[in-house]
Amino acid sequence: MSSRRKFIKQTIGSMAALAVSSELFPHILIPKQKEKLGVALVGLGYYSTDLLAPALQLTKHCYLAGIVTGTPAKAERWKKQYNIPDKNIYNYQTFDQIANNPDIDVVYVVLPPSMHAEYVIRAANAGKQVWCEKPMAMTVAECESMINACNTNKVKLSIGYRLHHEPNTQQIIQFRKEKKYGNITRVDVAAGYFDGRTDHWKQKKHLGGGSMYDMGVYPLNAARYTTGEEPIAVTAKQSTNRPEIYKEVDETMQFTLEFPGGAVAQCETSFGKNMNHLRVTCSKGWYKLEPFSAYSNVQGETSDGTKILPAITQVPHEQVRQMDDDALAILNKKPVLVPGEEGLKDIRVVEAVYRSVKENQRVKI
Ligand code: NAD
Repeated sequence: MSSRRKFIKQTIGSMAALAVSSELFPHILIPKQKEKLGVALVGLGYYSTDLLAPALQLTKHCYLAGIVTGTPAKAERWKKQYNIPDKNIYNYQTFDQIANNPDIDVVYVVLPPSMHAEYVIRAANAGKQVWCEKPMAMTVAECESMINACNTNKVKLSIGYRLHHEPNTQQIIQFRKEKKYGNITRVDVAAGYFDGRTDHWKQKKHLGGGSMYDMGVYPLNAARYTTGEEPIAVTAKQSTNRPEIYKEVDETMQFTLEFPGGAVAQCETSFGKNMNHLRVTCSKGWYKLEPFSAYSNVQGETSDGTKILPAITQVPHEQVRQMDDDALAILNKKPVLVPGEEGLKDIRVVEAVYRSVKENQRVKI
């Protein structure tokens, strides 16, 4: 028998054997689908420490499997607190080796915004599903490369806009879809807090600071999901009460968005004052959420007393819902609720906001 025919015969023989063994032992060829996805948090600052890691102890469809940190002392602390094995602990130099770790299904990027694009792309190239905190990135071009990297590697990209998973927010989106109160004419929306820090990435341009990027995406995103439209023009004004701290970036930003259906959104964000409301005026009534972007207790009222859902009761905080929804989308091979394209749409407007400030005029988008 020629060596070629011998090879073909052997190959067919071993394929038949595999077919028999896969019938008898299906787990040999078809790996059992995981019930819970392993998540690695990248960047163990405030949000990972206080909100995401505790939430990952409560999620049903994902769990805290690994960490990426540049600080060995933090790695030691987290390892003990969350029982994380050494093989699932990375630093920024060893990060790419995560590709070889089957415990990690999802990489969640929770770094300063200027670092989001790099780590999302590296995570996608490592073949991992990717979750990325808001703001998605600094520029539209960065957002596009993140989306492309995820598409090329056939992984899903979710942006951490937790409010899309929040029932009261979902209710007001439903009001718009049903036109329950007629056409939306005006949106007033503000999100800000007093930040007493003086030397943080939020005050540094090269790390992605500024109130518009950090908190401004809440009113911006809310104006977009409330109206269900993309703004066609923006007029923005930047100001500060603490010029000695806010030398490089905006402390306060006020911006007016014009929507094609005629609605106008008056938006404000700031690191200098506490504010948190979303008020929607329509041709046949109004509704509001106050607070609208808090971690819990988002609640609201309407002009006719229709009850907007009370504060979340099923789970202690929104991050649980967000991560479980995103994990389920991966497990069930369904589209994610907040894909990269949604983050990109906001960054396109953020660029226009800064252009309007620079040119001191209304800018078409
Ligand atoms: P933080 O400053 O508390 O943490 C940032 C982490 O990044 C730190 O662990 C820090 O060590 C690490 N890091 C690595 N390289 C760094 C560098 N060159 N400079 C500075 N830090 C560096 O910030 P945070 O409040 O946890 O925010 C992280 C991300 O999470 C941001 O994108 C932020 O917008 C987002 N966030 C989202 C929410 C939400 O509700 N979705 C809430 C808070 C923060």
